[in-house]
Amino acid sequence: MKLLVTGGCGFIGSNFVRMMLQRYPDCDITNLDKLTYAGNPENLKDIRDNPNYSFIKGDICDPHVVEKAMENVDIVIHFAAESHVDRSIEDGDVFVRTNVLGTNTLLNCALRSDIKKFIHVSTDEVYGSTETGSFKEEDNLEPSSPYSSSKAGSDLLAMSYHTTYGLPVSITRCTNNFGPYQYPEKLIPLFITNLMESEKVPVYGTGLNIRDWIHVDDHCSGIDFVLQNGNSGEVYNIGGGNELTNLDITHRVLKDLGKDESMIRYVEDRKGHDFRYSLDCTKLKKMGWKPEYDFESALSSTVKWYVENRWWWEPLKQ
Ligand code: NAD
Repeated sequence: MKLLVTGGCGFIGSNFVRMMLQRYPDCDITNLDKLTYAGNPENLKDIRDNPNYSFIKGDICDPHVVEKAMENVDIVIHFAAESHVDRSIEDGDVFVRTNVLGTNTLLNCALRSDIKKFIHVSTDEVYGSTETGSFKEEDNLEPSSPYSSSKAGSDLLAMSYHTTYGLPVSITRCTNNFGPYQYPEKLIPLFITNLMESEKVPVYGTGLNIRDWIHVDDHCSGIDFVLQNGNSGEVYNIGGGNELTNLDITHRVLKDLGKDESMIRYVEDRKGHDFRYSLDCTKLKKMGWKPEYDFESALSSTVKWYVENRWWWEPLKQ
């Protein structure tokens, strides 16, 4: 396997690169990453010298860079994106540029290269919010934020390249990830690192919004499963089966760090805050994939990772 991974210096991309090199020591991985604020070469410090790994600093919106990165590659796993909802509410421009234009650039270059599989990594947020039930792959997309709308746009583009040109595209849509190397602006690492610095944790509104949580390794194993077993032109939901309110998560993190409720600071709700995301993952489970991590112990070991790896997150919070 010769893989091009985009956004491999981000949270999920770096965990995916590490997992693939462990699972398939003979595979070749090229990582194309622009190194935005969210891209951190330290995330792959341990595999930097692996002869099967190479890094290109570049923008997925630049066709020359992408064309070169795709030389001698058979598989593209596309993670690169602007990924933080709050930032998209402040300013959506870079989200449209990277998530929509960048994805189109990759798809377009893939058409002219010998790509056997293109996996577009997407999110449950494209389906929008629901009070009851769980979204299936064929449900309509009703995204709410500029982030999720730009991801939905990229999903539609990706599938259009399959329908129009026969490009072997599969899409994965996953729920909220947690684990090591997640930029400390996202809920779980933000809360852990705030508490470690004796700062309160900001909970939006009443804290009753619901998300499904999955350990990043389970997401990565789901992507690998789709790579090995998925069909082109298909969408696959990947979820952890751990639906919790933001307040539930907050209480668990507080407890793990020996803190109490006085460390919660309720803040004005996020604009257009989706109430609940929920995925029906029957399709992938019927094919044989399932998440392996137990939520409680995975969350505790994640807390432990941030406690033990101050060197990683401290510079990012300054
Ligand atoms: P992240 O923000 O941690 O990492 C994004 C990476 O993409 C960074 O390394 C960044 O430098 C790179 N990048 C950004 N713009 C680029 C550009 N123009 N050219 C090249 N590289 C660029 O994001 P993440 O949380 O690892 O998410 C990865 C993917 O997974 C995204 O597509 C996201 O939508 C999707 N996803 C994330 C979650 C989650 O819970 N984090 C859940 C479902 C899906």
